[in-house]
Amino acid sequence: MTQTTVPAPTSSTPGAAREMPRQPMRLPAALAAARLWRAAGGPAEVELGALEPTLWRDSGLEIDGLISRLAQEGFRVNLTTNGSTLHRLADRLGRCGLSRLRVSWHTTDPALFRQITGFGDYARFERGITRAAALGLPLAFNRLLFKDRCEDLPRQLDFIQHHGLRLKLYDLYWTPAIAADYGRLYQPWAPIIRRHVLPRTARIERVRKASGRSRLRFHLHGGGVVEVKLGSQVDRSAEPCRRCPFQKACLESHGDYLRVDPRLQASLCYLRHDLAFPLDPAGGAGPLRASLAARLGPALPAFLRQGCLRLIIVPFCNQHCSLPGSAGTWCLKASGGYHYPRRERLPTPAP
Ligand code: SF4
Repeated sequence: MTQTTVPAPTSSTPGAAREMPRQPMRLPAALAAARLWRAAGGPAEVELGALEPTLWRDSGLEIDGLISRLAQEGFRVNLTTNGSTLHRLADRLGRCGLSRLRVSWHTTDPALFRQITGFGDYARFERGITRAAALGLPLAFNRLLFKDRCEDLPRQLDFIQHHGLRLKLYDLYWTPAIAADYGRLYQPWAPIIRRHVLPRTARIERVRKASGRSRLRFHLHGGGVVEVKLGSQVDRSAEPCRRCPFQKACLESHGDYLRVDPRLQASLCYLRHDLAFPLDPAGGAGPLRASLAARLGPALPAFLRQGCLRLIIVPFCNQHCSLPGSAGTWCLKASGGYHYPRRERLPTPAP
């Protein structure tokens, strides 16, 4: 896929959201959203995801306190973090009932790590993941592939194999903010898999999903798994995808997740904020089911079986990820009205 396949963003591009208040999602709201999702028929599983959820605080609790509360109510809780606080939180995260800890790990090169994250400290990050692995936390990693910046992958694979962990490789998602740089930096996963992963692979598994994209899993000799998402089976024939201006560029399915932001605005799509709808915990599960049915139609049962509730509990981040050699951010939340530290204060990156 190249940038020639996508429309140029204009002032009427759908998806941009108004600036959001800095207030994290309150504890009662997070618990209520999770209960509502389960009551509507969704799995008892919650993803706490981007922006940076380990910065969450409310009612005298930090992130491990929120996870404990959700786990006590019978929810499986998964957390996705940039890893910047793991050196401080790993021990507590090991004691709160967390089911899965996903960490963004896009490079092992300290200079590139700093350039990508804007504010990340690689030595501290590595201390955090090493501690988490030593504690036996249910760790998995996400890596975004950038063209000409994958030569360090063997070092990451060594870590994955040694600890028997999972690494998911992503290709760059197109967003309006990175349209100009997309072709320069887009790296398909297939050549990377052929060069670095297949020589270490003992077995390949294909995982089909009733909703969302299927995956390939490469089980490595001695332990560890590398996973990629397949894009070929995404069906865009139904609304709203059928007439969406981002249809040819979009790498997700409508309804991969139900995302809920701190204002309890819910969305089934990662780019189209104009399609969001309000979640009303006081209204009970009926209105939520009706809202989902109106948007998903016959796909609703599969979505409730395999879909996922993702709570965006913190509307700000302590990093501001950008493309190598560019100020353009690839953070999928960038058009959502969230808050980031200002990269303008950083030195200009080398191309
Ligand atoms: S999921 Fe569908 S509606 Fe959303 S951006 Fe992709 S094509 Fe458009």
